[in-house]
Amino acid sequence: VKESGKNDSMLYSESWSNSSFERLTLQHEMYRAIQRKEFILHYQPQYDMISGMMVGVEALVRWKHPVRGMIPPGDFIPIAEESGMIVQIGDWVLEEACRQSKAWQDAGLPPMPVSVNLSIRQFVQQDLASKVASVLQKTGLKPEYLDLEITESMTMDTGHVSRCLLELTHMGIGISVDDFGTGYSSFHYLKNFPIDRLKIDRSFVRDIQQDPSDAEIVAAIIAMAHNLNIQVIAEGVENEEQMEFLRKHNCDEMQGYFWSPPVSSTAIEQMLGAAYI
Ligand code: C2E
Ligand code: CA
Ligand code: CA
Ligand code: CA
Repeated sequence: VKESGKNDSMLYSESWSNSSFERLTLQHEMYRAIQRKEFILHYQPQYDMISGMMVGVEALVRWKHPVRGMIPPGDFIPIAEESGMIVQIGDWVLEEACRQSKAWQDAGLPPMPVSVNLSIRQFVQQDLASKVASVLQKTGLKPEYLDLEITESMTMDTGHVSRCLLELTHMGIGISVDDFGTGYSSFHYLKNFPIDRLKIDRSFVRDIQQDPSDAEIVAAIIAMAHNLNIQVIAEGVENEEQMEFLRKHNCDEMQGYFWSPPVSSTAIEQMLGAAYI
């Protein structure tokens, strides 16, 4: 099992998030941060492999801390997960992402589906399907413009999650498996859940050129997904060689620093506007 690339940013944060005092402080600050509107979303474009057109964006949360500055999600999401605060933060992220996607459409920009990362806690601690339905109603975003990214977790109640995902699918919302290949039961997911898309974890993409077995694995994941009628997006694409490999193996979409890091909503507007003048 590959170690997910998403933990990189935790390395340098260990100094402060390790001590229990710091964790408590952070938890308390996180609680206030929701009220004080210190969270913001950045968006990373997702591109169609053949046309090169932007076909979606992934919403990624940041914490604009008044003293510590911009805190990346790797430094507070794990603590938010532990404390349960992720449910409130996740609710905010979902609504803000839907509001933003709708606002872009209302401004006359091409409709951009938005992908939102979900914590498994958001399935367990609330009725996620009704939550999502009410957010769509409130923001006016059509369900086909929302995609939910889920990761694999050992501690989940498969029956409950599966029922919930089915409800979301029937509403017309897209479901993606994030970090595919790094978890405990990737294949179990594909077999038991209504999945529209899988995201090949960037740890595989990173080593495509150096590691022949990673190249084989990526090619096999794409072929298998297509046989199951599941779309494939590669994350963490950083150079042309990786893109060429993915293109050659019929990967559907791509996302990565090679085209754009996560950027502000204003920057997305400029990209979308510029492409359609
Ligand atoms: P993720 O969902 O796997 O998101 C992709 C991460 O990879 C992002 O880091 C993104 O900036 C980074 N990335 C994108 N392209 C490249 C690339 O080409 N090379 C490299 N090296 N990295 C790339 P970010 O924004 O720091 O987010 C880290 C993780 O935090 C996310 O990983 C996700 O698991 C979590 N996260 C972010 N926002 C949310 C949220 O709203 N809710 C939840 N539950 N988790 C979130
Ligand atoms: Ca990852
Ligand atoms: Ca994600
Ligand atoms: Ca990912």
